[in-house]
Amino acid sequence: MPLDLEQRRTRLEVLKEDARGCNACADMAGHPRNMGDPSATLEERCLVVATAPGPTKAGANDPVPLDGDHTGDSFSRLLADADLRRDQLYVTNAVLCPPRRGGRSRKVRAAEIANCSRFLSGLMVALDPVLVVTLGTTALRAVSELAPHGLSLHRDVGGVHRWMGRWLLPLYHPGPRAMIHRPWAAQRRDYATWRSLMD
Ligand code: SF4
Repeated sequence: MPLDLEQRRTRLEVLKEDARGCNACADMAGHPRNMGDPSATLEERCLVVATAPGPTKAGANDPVPLDGDHTGDSFSRLLADADLRRDQLYVTNAVLCPPRRGGRSRKVRAAEIANCSRFLSGLMVALDPVLVVTLGTTALRAVSELAPHGLSLHRDVGGVHRWMGRWLLPLYHPGPRAMIHRPWAAQRRDYATWRSLMD
């Protein structure tokens, strides 16, 4: 039986507490970590997986995934164009801690994706999403840690796939580099597909 709203909220709080004490990745000790967007009402069961926390325009560690920087602005525009609201979604990251080297962002390591997959797995249980949207290759790889899906972003972007008894929609990360592979108009169509799956 699906969890009710109160049960989902309770499980999410337990998971957040667990993440606060996690030291599984050697380089991540002491970093702040954020499970996901606190504006989510959890009423609609849509989980969005991005990559990792990045710096905001102000230079602080991003307290909310895909918010407060240029990529977050693009994400907000794509959502608004598709008539999607952030509070309908639970936006998290494949890796909860900001990957940094010498004060600068670095690529997420495979071991970090694997280590952090236990929190993604916990979110699957806590939120019981009907729809999972991955943004970028790191996110698509992260969900494959939970169950193989055999998808590639380049080939399967924008398609809707059955996975773990749910719908999985792989999209590009809305950062500037996505435009190289997926023009803005195509991304808008992808988000319209996403909107249709929320009905
Ligand atoms: S990235 Fe995830 S697994 Fe690694 S220390 Fe942070 S919370 Fe733990």
